[in-house]
Amino acid sequence: MHDVVVVGGGPAGSLAAAALARTHDVVVLEEHPSSGQPVQCAGLITDDVISMSGVRPDILNTLHGAEVVFPDGNTVEVRSDWPKARVVDRGQLDSLMADAAMDAGAEYRYNTRYLSHSVTDHVEVETGDGMVGSRAIVGADGHSSRVASSLGDNFPREYVRGIQADVSVRMERQDLFRIHLGSRFAPGFFTWEIPCGDFTRVGLCTSWSAGPPYHHLMDLLHHIGASDRIIRMYSGKIPLGGRRTIHGDRCLLIGDAGCMVKPVSGGGLYPAFQSVPILRDVLTDALDRDTLDEHALSGYDRIWYQKVGRELDRAYRLRSMFVRLDDDDLSCAGRYASREKVRSALDELSLDHPSDVVGGIMKHPSNILAAIPLALRCLL
Ligand SMILES: Cc1cc2nc3c(=O)[nH]c(=O)nc-3n(C[C@H](O)[C@H](O)[C@H](O)COP(=O)(O)OP(=O)(O)OC[C@H]3O[C@@H](n4cnc5c(N)ncnc54)[C@H](O)[C@@H]3O)c2cc1C
Repeated sequence: MHDVVVVGGGPAGSLAAAALARTHDVVVLEEHPSSGQPVQCAGLITDDVISMSGVRPDILNTLHGAEVVFPDGNTVEVRSDWPKARVVDRGQLDSLMADAAMDAGAEYRYNTRYLSHSVTDHVEVETGDGMVGSRAIVGADGHSSRVASSLGDNFPREYVRGIQADVSVRMERQDLFRIHLGSRFAPGFFTWEIPCGDFTRVGLCTSWSAGPPYHHLMDLLHHIGASDRIIRMYSGKIPLGGRRTIHGDRCLLIGDAGCMVKPVSGGGLYPAFQSVPILRDVLTDALDRDTLDEHALSGYDRIWYQKVGRELDRAYRLRSMFVRLDDDDLSCAGRYASREKVRSALDELSLDHPSDVVGGIMKHPSNILAAIPLALRCLL
């Protein structure tokens, strides 16, 4: 009988396993032969995320800002002197984090798929490889989490589809990544072209209703002259808008399984890592008291919402406004963003707290007046 079974050896599962294994008997079930494959990530993260991961992945590049291209072709450059983001190899990050969890004492069972679990006075987990018993289960099994589904009607409010290709093209500017907005390349989201030295990571996400995003990626690759330079391609989906609950009887969710993703950027690592100490504290306390029922674990939902979920909810409201904008509105937003006082506020944008920039923009009364037509369009 283990103390905790963690389902999923991705970054959220490994960080949770490392945090719990220092004091408890933890086993991680991962369906793939290793952590970090297949990759479903652009690898764009901040220094805070690297520090929270507890490991030191290789840095492929450092970015100081972005060039945003609006549907009418207008371009706005947002740049700071401090590094806004680092580009890492997600496969390597995941693998280093799994090693760190093993060093902390967690046992990893690869090629082991979670199928279902039942709860009595303990948790009985059915895997493709036999039964595993534990006192609690942590669902860290990603966007299509089966553990999350075991908690009843618990789907994310929305999924977006992502696809990306590494292409053997060297971008002229290595300090900025480029984003395209608009329905041609990325209906309901945005594209990214991330310089990584001799290659460039080109990708995009689209709203679910826009259908499979492959032809949008090919269109973008044609547009930048890289369609015949593809080295590898990845795809995946991103859950947005939260789930009904992130806890159940003897059960907690973390990472994409808990829909802990920034709705504006689709970044999942920062909110997942922010949530791990909350999970560790609630679960450790419940294990020590040996009270692990749904009521005893309800503090996880409550504390998580105060510390992480509220900001994600606020950002989801921004996303809801964003998806109402058509190409003309986005071009109008581009002209607004070109105003000096708006642009200088955008320079301060933090990838981990993008909604904070709204407060910075609204400090100037002239910015508020100029934003009124656009704000009305978002609300209608
Ligand atoms: C195209 C794209 C680009 C992205 N770019 C970024 C970015 O630049 N920065 C960023 O912060 N985020 C990015 N994200 C989001 C980020 O990849 C996720 O938020 C992150 O991977 C979540 O980590 P996780 O550990 O919760 O889930 P995952 O990384 O999905 O890990 C879940 C693990 O569970 C395993 N698993 C699943 N089901 C089972 C089962 N039944 N039994 C056993 N094991 C199972 C899987 O094999 C996997 O290893 C991107 C996503 C996409 C799709």
